[in-house]
Amino acid sequence: MERTLAIIKPDAVERGFTGKIFDRIEGNGLKIIALKMIHLTKKEAEGFYKVHAQRPFFPGLTTYMSSETVVIAVLEGKDAIKKWRDLMGATNPKDAAAGTIRKDFAVDIEKNSVHGSDSPESASYEISYFFSSIEIFSHKRTKT
Ligand code: UDP
Ligand code: MG
Repeated sequence: MERTLAIIKPDAVERGFTGKIFDRIEGNGLKIIALKMIHLTKKEAEGFYKVHAQRPFFPGLTTYMSSETVVIAVLEGKDAIKKWRDLMGATNPKDAAAGTIRKDFAVDIEKNSVHGSDSPESASYEISYFFSSIEIFSHKRTKT
């Protein structure tokens, strides 16, 4: 069992795709074990994306991520990190495979609807950035 952090980004929350994205998560063997809706400050968005601080897209990305509310979840399942990244699709929706969330919902490379941790180390940092241990509910495993 592995855990990963998922964010439904402002473009997807605004356009009413939260439920459809939850459906893909729960329909593909991943469990939502923590959940919140928040409006990030610019500083909170910068802290979350600090690995990208030197990248040219950082100012735009952090302004966008603090522009509206986001939905943040911890997902648990077998190979959850890779499974969620596979469901998300490539960063640029133009490159995303058919049937992925980004192919189906993303606006552009910035407003690409979802975030997912890319390694166990980033999952650990990102989960603890938003959730304390008492906010995470690990379920008994039933079906995958
Ligand atoms: N991003 C962007 N322009 C780029 C690359 C990335 O605006 O050229 C944004 C996009 O929202 C992306 C986020 O920055 O999801 C983080 O980039 P990363 O390379 O980590 O992509 P991800 O892991 O989200 O696929
Ligand atoms: Mg990334």
